[in-house]
Amino acid sequence: MRVRNKPWAEPYITAHPNWIVTNPDRWIGKWKERFPNPNQPLQLEIGTGKGQFIVEMAKKYPQINFLGIEIQTSVIAMALRKAVNNELTNIQFLHTDGIMVDRLFNQNEVDAIYLNFSDPWPKKRHEKRRLTSPRFLNSYSKVLSPDAPIKFKTDNRGLFEYSLKTFNNQGLVFDDISLNLHNSPENKNNVQTEYEEKFSQNGPIYQAVVHFNR
Ligand code: SAM
Repeated sequence: MRVRNKPWAEPYITAHPNWIVTNPDRWIGKWKERFPNPNQPLQLEIGTGKGQFIVEMAKKYPQINFLGIEIQTSVIAMALRKAVNNELTNIQFLHTDGIMVDRLFNQNEVDAIYLNFSDPWPKKRHEKRRLTSPRFLNSYSKVLSPDAPIKFKTDNRGLFEYSLKTFNNQGLVFDDISLNLHNSPENKNNVQTEYEEKFSQNGPIYQAVVHFNR
């Protein structure tokens, strides 16, 4: 997803330092301290987009702290604006590339990772950009607490098949697989993303829930 540059995005980010981190090195090992309730679990969404999922999750689960990571400035500014407008205190944002998580978080600092409708990057030469490629999975493995899940959903069958193979090859344990999430019992607690609302009319939504075997 590419969005047009929004001139208000940079000043809006600068004006909200309590919600969005621009100096991430300062917070390594201390991310939970950014939240009023630091003892709550910390869950990340990587590729958070315009923020519908993470904002709705933060409203639904006030007992969890959420951190949205997004690489595009204009997009993260839109997510930030949603959180600010909803006056949510259990949500934070980090403007960076998701590959950085193993540099910016300590082992056991993260209690779940959500990957929602990640860009499929269908060309083989772009494989390493996929958020479920071995390169990214290695990064996630260094920050997740024992048994912490990665929850991945997509409408892209090719990306789903690729991801099942990489999860298997990296030795992850499969907790759940849905080939049609919206028609499965798992849907009861499902919070929809912007992409999910838009594309679920066209075909099934796939979901895999996995964790590292340590
Ligand atoms: N998760 C949202 C949803 O389901 O509506 C957005 C999906 S959109 C297809 C993928 C998002 O991931 C884009 O906003 C893109 O900028 C972001 N993204 C792609 N690669 C990323 C990376 N390496 N690190 C952080 N964000 C990334």
